Amino acid sequence: MLDVIIIGGGPAGLSAAIYAERAGLKTAVIEKAVAGGQISQTHKLENYLGFENGISGADFAAAILAQAKRFGGEFILDEVTDLELEGDVKKVITKGAVYETRSVILAMGVSPRKLEIPGEQELSGMGVSYCATCDGAFFRGLPVAVVGGGDTAFEDALYLSEMASDVYLIHRRDAFRAQEYLVKLAEARSNIHFVKETVPVEIQGRFEVEGLKVRNVRTEEESILDVAGVFVAAGHIPGTDLLKGKVDLDSHGYVIASENTKTNIDNVFVAGDVRTKSLRQVVTAASDGAIAAMEAHANIKLK
Ligand code: NAP
Repeated sequence: MLDVIIIGGGPAGLSAAIYAERAGLKTAVIEKAVAGGQISQTHKLENYLGFENGISGADFAAAILAQAKRFGGEFILDEVTDLELEGDVKKVITKGAVYETRSVILAMGVSPRKLEIPGEQELSGMGVSYCATCDGAFFRGLPVAVVGGGDTAFEDALYLSEMASDVYLIHRRDAFRAQEYLVKLAEARSNIHFVKETVPVEIQGRFEVEGLKVRNVRTEEESILDVAGVFVAAGHIPGTDLLKGKVDLDSHGYVIASENTKTNIDNVFVAGDVRTKSLRQVVTAASDGAIAAMEAHANIKLK
Protein backbone atom coordinates (compact mmCIF):
# COMPACT_ATOMS: atom_id res chain seq x y z
CA MET A 1 0.00 0.00 0.00
CA LEU A 2 1.33 3.40 -1.01
CA ASP A 3 0.76 6.65 0.89
CA VAL A 4 0.39 8.74 -2.24
CA ILE A 5 0.09 8.14 -5.96
CA ILE A 6 0.74 11.15 -8.15
CA ILE A 7 -0.80 10.96 -11.62
CA GLY A 8 1.34 12.98 -14.02
CA GLY A 9 5.06 13.69 -14.08
CA GLY A 10 5.11 17.37 -15.03
CA PRO A 11 6.29 20.19 -12.75
CA ALA A 12 3.18 19.83 -10.52
CA GLY A 13 3.58 16.06 -10.13
CA LEU A 14 7.34 16.14 -9.64
CA SER A 15 7.13 18.97 -7.12
CA ALA A 16 4.53 16.91 -5.23
CA ALA A 17 6.86 13.89 -5.38
CA ILE A 18 9.78 15.87 -3.91
CA TYR A 19 7.68 17.18 -1.02
CA ALA A 20 5.92 13.86 -0.37
CA GLU A 21 9.15 11.86 -0.36
CA ARG A 22 10.92 14.35 1.87
CA ALA A 23 7.96 14.16 4.26
CA GLY A 24 8.48 10.39 4.47
CA LEU A 25 5.44 9.31 2.42
CA LYS A 26 5.68 6.16 0.34
CA THR A 27 5.23 7.72 -3.08
CA ALA A 28 4.79 6.72 -6.72
CA VAL A 29 4.47 8.92 -9.80
CA ILE A 30 2.64 7.46 -12.79
CA GLU A 31 3.33 9.15 -16.13
CA LYS A 32 2.05 7.91 -19.48
CA ALA A 33 4.44 9.75 -21.79
CA VAL A 34 7.39 12.03 -21.11
CA ALA A 35 8.45 13.19 -17.66
CA GLY A 36 8.43 16.96 -17.46
CA GLY A 37 5.05 17.25 -19.18
CA GLN A 38 4.41 20.13 -21.52
CA ILE A 39 7.48 22.00 -20.33
CA SER A 40 9.71 19.40 -21.99
CA GLN A 41 8.42 20.72 -25.34
CA THR A 42 8.93 24.38 -24.51
CA HIS A 43 11.76 26.09 -26.35
CA LYS A 44 12.86 28.27 -23.46
CA LEU A 45 11.59 28.84 -19.94
CA GLU A 46 12.35 32.44 -19.09
CA ASN A 47 10.03 33.36 -16.26
CA TYR A 48 10.86 30.74 -13.64
CA LEU A 49 13.00 31.82 -10.69
CA GLY A 50 16.66 30.91 -10.60
CA PHE A 51 17.67 30.93 -14.25
CA GLU A 52 19.08 34.33 -15.12
CA ASN A 53 19.25 33.61 -18.83
CA GLY A 54 16.36 31.14 -18.98
CA ILE A 55 16.66 27.41 -19.49
CA SER A 56 15.48 25.11 -22.27
CA GLY A 57 12.29 23.18 -21.50
CA ALA A 58 14.05 19.87 -22.12
CA ASP A 59 16.91 20.72 -19.72
CA PHE A 60 14.45 21.88 -17.08
CA ALA A 61 12.37 18.70 -17.42
CA ALA A 62 15.48 16.51 -17.09
CA ALA A 63 16.64 18.46 -14.04
CA ILE A 64 13.34 18.23 -12.14
CA LEU A 65 13.04 14.52 -12.91
CA ALA A 66 16.57 13.87 -11.63
CA GLN A 67 15.85 15.99 -8.55
CA ALA A 68 12.62 14.12 -7.79
CA LYS A 69 14.33 10.74 -8.25
CA ARG A 70 17.08 11.72 -5.82
CA PHE A 71 14.59 11.55 -2.94
CA GLY A 72 13.50 8.02 -3.78
CA GLY A 73 9.98 7.10 -4.73
CA GLU A 74 8.82 5.03 -7.63
CA PHE A 75 8.46 6.35 -11.21
CA ILE A 76 6.12 4.26 -13.28
CA LEU A 77 5.72 4.68 -17.04
CA ASP A 78 2.15 3.54 -17.62
CA GLU A 79 -1.28 4.90 -18.47
CA VAL A 80 -4.00 5.22 -15.85
CA THR A 81 -7.22 3.77 -17.23
CA ASP A 82 -9.51 3.90 -14.21
CA LEU A 83 -9.71 5.17 -10.66
CA GLU A 84 -11.62 4.17 -7.53
CA LEU A 85 -11.38 7.23 -5.34
CA GLU A 86 -13.98 6.74 -2.63
CA GLY A 87 -13.05 5.39 0.81
CA ASP A 88 -9.79 5.13 2.74
CA VAL A 89 -8.07 2.78 0.29
CA LYS A 90 -8.07 4.14 -3.25
CA LYS A 91 -7.32 2.13 -6.36
CA VAL A 92 -5.36 3.43 -9.36
CA ILE A 93 -5.77 1.10 -12.30
CA THR A 94 -3.25 1.29 -15.12
CA LYS A 95 -2.84 -0.68 -18.33
CA GLY A 96 -0.36 -2.91 -16.52
CA ALA A 97 -1.34 -3.06 -12.83
CA VAL A 98 -3.65 -2.06 -9.97
CA TYR A 99 -2.14 0.08 -7.20
CA GLU A 100 -3.59 0.78 -3.75
CA THR A 101 -2.94 4.07 -2.04
CA ARG A 102 -4.13 6.21 0.85
CA SER A 103 -4.18 9.40 -1.24
CA VAL A 104 -4.06 10.52 -4.85
CA ILE A 105 -2.70 13.72 -6.36
CA LEU A 106 -4.17 14.45 -9.79
CA ALA A 107 -1.53 16.24 -11.87
CA MET A 108 -2.27 15.02 -15.38
CA GLY A 109 -2.07 18.43 -17.00
CA VAL A 110 -3.66 19.49 -20.26
CA SER A 111 -3.27 18.64 -23.95
CA PRO A 112 -3.38 20.83 -27.08
CA ARG A 113 -6.79 21.86 -28.40
CA LYS A 114 -7.44 20.71 -31.97
CA LEU A 115 -8.81 23.01 -34.67
CA GLU A 116 -11.29 20.34 -35.84
CA ILE A 117 -11.02 21.38 -39.51
CA PRO A 118 -10.64 19.20 -42.62
CA GLY A 119 -7.07 18.08 -43.20
CA GLU A 120 -5.94 18.57 -39.61
CA GLN A 121 -6.09 14.95 -38.53
CA GLU A 122 -5.10 13.56 -41.94
CA LEU A 123 -1.95 15.69 -42.11
CA SER A 124 -1.00 15.49 -38.44
CA GLY A 125 2.71 14.69 -38.35
CA MET A 126 2.92 15.49 -42.07
CA GLY A 127 3.11 19.24 -41.68
CA VAL A 128 0.50 19.75 -38.97
CA SER A 129 2.14 20.07 -35.58
CA TYR A 130 1.24 20.98 -32.00
CA CYS A 131 4.85 21.50 -30.93
CA ALA A 132 7.01 24.11 -32.62
CA THR A 133 10.15 23.20 -30.72
CA CYS A 134 9.73 19.53 -31.67
CA ASP A 135 9.05 20.01 -35.38
CA GLY A 136 10.21 23.51 -36.31
CA ALA A 137 13.54 22.33 -37.72
CA PHE A 138 11.72 20.45 -40.52
CA PHE A 139 10.61 23.78 -41.96
CA ARG A 140 13.95 25.50 -42.43
CA GLY A 141 13.62 28.02 -45.26
CA LEU A 142 9.91 27.25 -45.73
CA PRO A 143 6.80 29.33 -44.98
CA VAL A 144 4.64 28.20 -42.03
CA ALA A 145 1.46 29.27 -40.25
CA VAL A 146 0.84 29.47 -36.51
CA VAL A 147 -2.80 29.46 -35.37
CA GLY A 148 -3.66 31.25 -32.12
CA GLY A 149 -3.21 34.57 -30.37
CA GLY A 150 -1.97 33.57 -26.93
CA ASP A 151 1.48 33.25 -25.36
CA THR A 152 2.13 29.86 -26.95
CA ALA A 153 1.30 31.14 -30.45
CA PHE A 154 3.69 34.05 -30.01
CA GLU A 155 6.47 31.95 -28.52
CA ASP A 156 6.03 29.48 -31.38
CA ALA A 157 6.05 32.25 -33.98
CA LEU A 158 9.21 33.77 -32.51
CA TYR A 159 10.96 30.40 -32.41
CA LEU A 160 9.87 29.44 -35.93
CA SER A 161 10.88 32.83 -37.35
CA GLU A 162 14.50 31.84 -36.67
CA MET A 163 14.30 29.00 -39.21
CA ALA A 164 11.22 29.35 -41.42
CA SER A 165 11.27 31.81 -44.32
CA ASP A 166 7.98 33.40 -43.23
CA VAL A 167 5.61 32.88 -40.32
CA TYR A 168 1.93 33.78 -40.70
CA LEU A 169 0.30 34.22 -37.32
CA ILE A 170 -3.42 33.57 -37.82
CA HIS A 171 -5.66 34.95 -35.10
CA ARG A 172 -9.45 35.01 -35.01
CA ARG A 173 -9.70 38.38 -33.29
CA ASP A 174 -8.13 41.82 -33.63
CA ALA A 175 -6.67 41.88 -30.10
CA PHE A 176 -4.11 39.38 -28.90
CA ARG A 177 -4.33 37.45 -25.66
CA ALA A 178 -0.53 37.13 -25.44
CA GLN A 179 1.63 39.17 -23.08
CA GLU A 180 2.60 42.57 -24.44
CA TYR A 181 6.33 41.89 -24.43
CA LEU A 182 5.91 38.84 -26.67
CA VAL A 183 3.73 40.84 -29.08
CA LYS A 184 6.39 43.56 -29.25
CA LEU A 185 9.13 41.01 -29.94
CA ALA A 186 7.07 39.47 -32.76
CA GLU A 187 6.24 42.86 -34.27
CA ALA A 188 9.97 43.54 -34.51
CA ARG A 189 10.59 40.40 -36.62
CA SER A 190 10.33 41.20 -40.32
CA ASN A 191 9.34 37.64 -41.32
CA ILE A 192 6.38 37.35 -38.90
CA HIS A 193 3.16 38.46 -40.61
CA PHE A 194 -0.03 39.02 -38.61
CA VAL A 195 -3.22 37.73 -40.20
CA LYS A 196 -5.91 38.98 -37.82
CA GLU A 197 -9.65 38.40 -37.69
CA THR A 198 -9.08 35.26 -39.66
CA VAL A 199 -9.85 31.62 -38.99
CA PRO A 200 -8.38 28.50 -40.56
CA VAL A 201 -10.89 26.61 -42.67
CA GLU A 202 -9.02 23.71 -44.26
CA ILE A 203 -5.49 22.34 -44.31
CA GLN A 204 -4.72 21.30 -47.85
CA GLY A 205 -2.37 18.65 -49.16
CA ARG A 206 -2.29 14.92 -49.76
CA PHE A 207 0.92 13.55 -48.26
CA GLU A 208 2.19 16.86 -46.87
CA VAL A 209 0.79 20.29 -46.13
CA GLU A 210 0.52 22.31 -49.33
CA GLY A 211 -1.59 25.22 -48.15
CA LEU A 212 -3.93 26.61 -45.52
CA LYS A 213 -7.34 27.90 -46.52
CA VAL A 214 -8.38 30.78 -44.24
CA ARG A 215 -11.46 33.00 -43.94
CA ASN A 216 -11.61 36.61 -42.85
CA VAL A 217 -14.38 36.73 -40.23
CA ARG A 218 -15.45 40.29 -41.13
CA THR A 219 -15.45 40.12 -44.93
CA GLU A 220 -16.10 36.34 -45.19
CA GLU A 221 -13.45 36.37 -47.93
CA GLU A 222 -11.50 33.13 -48.28
CA SER A 223 -7.89 32.83 -49.42
CA ILE A 224 -5.13 30.24 -49.46
CA LEU A 225 -1.85 30.75 -47.65
CA ASP A 226 1.05 29.00 -49.31
CA VAL A 227 2.56 27.25 -46.27
CA ALA A 228 4.37 23.96 -45.74
CA GLY A 229 3.58 23.69 -42.05
CA VAL A 230 0.68 24.53 -39.74
CA PHE A 231 1.47 24.91 -36.05
CA VAL A 232 -1.63 24.79 -33.87
CA ALA A 233 -1.40 26.91 -30.70
CA ALA A 234 -5.10 27.20 -29.89
CA GLY A 235 -4.91 26.55 -26.17
CA HIS A 236 -5.39 23.38 -24.21
CA ILE A 237 -8.00 21.03 -22.84
CA PRO A 238 -7.71 19.21 -19.51
CA GLY A 239 -7.06 15.46 -19.64
CA THR A 240 -9.87 14.62 -17.23
CA ASP A 241 -12.13 12.22 -19.15
CA LEU A 242 -11.47 9.43 -16.70
CA LEU A 243 -12.44 11.68 -13.78
CA LYS A 244 -15.97 12.39 -15.01
CA GLY A 245 -18.52 11.39 -12.37
CA LYS A 246 -15.72 10.73 -9.84
CA VAL A 247 -14.49 14.21 -8.90
CA ASP A 248 -16.21 17.59 -9.30
CA LEU A 249 -15.16 19.23 -12.58
CA ASP A 250 -16.07 22.69 -13.90
CA SER A 251 -17.91 23.18 -17.20
CA HIS A 252 -14.58 23.10 -19.13
CA GLY A 253 -13.45 19.86 -17.48
CA TYR A 254 -10.94 21.32 -14.98
CA VAL A 255 -10.88 19.76 -11.50
CA ILE A 256 -12.50 22.11 -9.01
CA ALA A 257 -10.24 23.05 -6.08
CA SER A 258 -8.92 26.19 -4.46
CA GLU A 259 -5.35 26.99 -3.43
CA ASN A 260 -5.46 24.20 -0.81
CA THR A 261 -5.68 21.74 -3.78
CA LYS A 262 -8.42 19.69 -2.04
CA THR A 263 -11.05 18.19 -4.33
CA ASN A 264 -14.53 17.21 -3.14
CA ILE A 265 -13.24 13.68 -2.38
CA ASP A 266 -11.29 13.02 0.83
CA ASN A 267 -7.57 12.50 0.25
CA VAL A 268 -7.78 13.33 -3.45
CA PHE A 269 -5.87 16.48 -4.37
CA VAL A 270 -5.25 18.28 -7.65
CA ALA A 271 -2.14 20.16 -8.75
CA GLY A 272 -1.04 22.13 -11.80
CA ASP A 273 -2.77 23.10 -15.04
CA VAL A 274 -5.60 20.59 -14.56
CA ARG A 275 -6.91 22.53 -11.53
CA THR A 276 -9.34 25.46 -11.73
CA LYS A 277 -7.05 28.50 -11.41
CA SER A 278 -6.27 31.89 -12.89
CA LEU A 279 -2.60 31.43 -13.82
CA ARG A 280 -1.34 28.25 -15.50
CA GLN A 281 2.44 28.47 -15.22
CA VAL A 282 5.33 26.29 -14.03
CA VAL A 283 5.61 28.38 -10.88
CA THR A 284 1.96 27.82 -9.90
CA ALA A 285 2.18 24.12 -10.84
CA ALA A 286 5.21 23.68 -8.57
CA SER A 287 3.42 25.51 -5.79
CA ASP A 288 0.30 23.33 -6.14
CA GLY A 289 2.40 20.17 -6.05
CA ALA A 290 4.06 21.19 -2.79
CA ILE A 291 0.73 22.11 -1.17
CA ALA A 292 -0.99 18.91 -2.33
CA ALA A 293 1.82 16.75 -0.92
CA MET A 294 1.73 18.57 2.41
CA GLU A 295 -2.07 18.26 2.59
CA ALA A 296 -1.78 14.52 1.87
CA HIS A 297 0.90 14.22 4.54
CA ALA A 298 -1.23 16.06 7.13
CA ASN A 299 -4.24 13.81 6.44
CA ILE A 300 -2.19 10.62 6.68
CA LYS A 301 -0.58 11.71 9.95
CA LEU A 302 -4.04 12.44 11.41
CA LYS A 303 -5.16 8.83 10.93
P1 NAP B 1 -4.53 30.42 -24.62
O1 NAP B 1 -4.00 31.56 -23.80
O2 NAP B 1 -5.79 29.76 -24.22
O3 NAP B 1 -4.68 30.96 -26.11
C1 NAP B 1 -5.26 30.18 -27.11
C2 NAP B 1 -5.39 31.03 -28.35
O4 NAP B 1 -5.96 30.22 -29.39
C3 NAP B 1 -6.32 32.22 -28.14
O5 NAP B 1 -5.78 33.35 -28.77
C4 NAP B 1 -7.61 31.77 -28.81
O6 NAP B 1 -8.31 32.84 -29.39
C5 NAP B 1 -7.11 30.84 -29.91
N1 NAP B 1 -8.07 29.78 -30.25
C6 NAP B 1 -8.73 28.93 -29.42
N2 NAP B 1 -9.48 28.06 -30.10
C7 NAP B 1 -9.30 28.35 -31.41
C8 NAP B 1 -9.82 27.80 -32.61
N3 NAP B 1 -10.67 26.75 -32.60
N4 NAP B 1 -9.44 28.36 -33.77
C9 NAP B 1 -8.58 29.41 -33.78
N5 NAP B 1 -8.04 29.97 -32.69
C10 NAP B 1 -8.41 29.44 -31.50
O7 NAP B 1 -3.46 29.22 -24.75
P2 NAP B 1 -1.86 29.25 -24.71
O8 NAP B 1 -1.32 30.35 -25.54
O9 NAP B 1 -1.42 27.88 -25.01
O10 NAP B 1 -1.54 29.57 -23.20
C11 NAP B 1 -2.05 28.72 -22.17
C12 NAP B 1 -1.57 29.22 -20.82
O11 NAP B 1 -0.16 29.01 -20.72
C13 NAP B 1 -1.81 30.70 -20.63
O12 NAP B 1 -2.15 30.93 -19.29
C14 NAP B 1 -0.50 31.33 -20.95
O13 NAP B 1 -0.27 32.57 -20.31
C15 NAP B 1 0.47 30.26 -20.47
N6 NAP B 1 1.74 30.34 -21.20
C16 NAP B 1 2.67 31.19 -20.70
C17 NAP B 1 3.88 31.33 -21.35
C18 NAP B 1 4.90 32.27 -20.77
O14 NAP B 1 4.63 32.91 -19.75
N7 NAP B 1 6.06 32.45 -21.35
C19 NAP B 1 4.14 30.64 -22.53
C20 NAP B 1 3.16 29.79 -23.04
C21 NAP B 1 1.94 29.66 -22.36
P3 NAP B 1 -9.02 33.96 -28.45
O15 NAP B 1 -7.92 34.84 -27.96
O16 NAP B 1 -9.95 34.63 -29.40
O17 NAP B 1 -9.73 33.20 -27.38
